Amino acid sequence: MELDPGWLRDAARARRQPLQFEIDEMNALLEAAAFGRDEDEQAAAARQLIDRVVRCYDIDVRHVNGPMTLDPDVARKAETVGGDRRVRLGYSAFLDDVPELAALVLHEVTHVNQAALCGDARPPSQQFVAYEAMAYATGVRDAGVLGLSDEQRERNGAMLRLALEALHPDNRRRIVETGRYCGLREDVPPPPAEVFERLAGALPARR
Ligand SMILES: [Zn+2]
Repeated sequence: MELDPGWLRDAARARRQPLQFEIDEMNALLEAAAFGRDEDEQAAAARQLIDRVVRCYDIDVRHVNGPMTLDPDVARKAETVGGDRRVRLGYSAFLDDVPELAALVLHEVTHVNQAALCGDARPPSQQFVAYEAMAYATGVRDAGVLGLSDEQRERNGAMLRLALEALHPDNRRRIVETGRYCGLREDVPPPPAEVFERLAGALPARR
């Protein structure tokens, strides 16, 4: 699968690799976010950490509405609501390592960019599948800069392939060949519900 920059033009990108001391700082904040004394300390550390991830990996968050926050009501790793373009992370997002968290932020910011530039999309639409393909592709394309392990990269790759296979061939061809991912053909049979559950639930989730 060719990760042509054309169809990932609007996807979020990690434009910088953090230095070792920055990674150490982020690890300390991750520890405090996951295992801090109380909820306040955890939430404060999570806020600082997300801010640090955005700056240290130099992620363009211009389309995100408000700060990305830890929301105790979010049971999954993350919820990004296209309509209000806010990113809410759950506690479980802070139980992985920093590269995985950074990949999650990239994935969710990609969904915000899509919502801002091409509109909201819900399952079982082809548009939703295309959005997931783009979002998982960021974890493959930027795996090196993010510092993902081979296993983490491969997990993103597997989800990317699942999404590409769930696209109607006309839509897949259009996206990969022309880079245009808005206004896809929707007059096609939807992929099985299980595919949508996996795309929405395995790594980051969308509501
Ligand atoms: Zn997603």
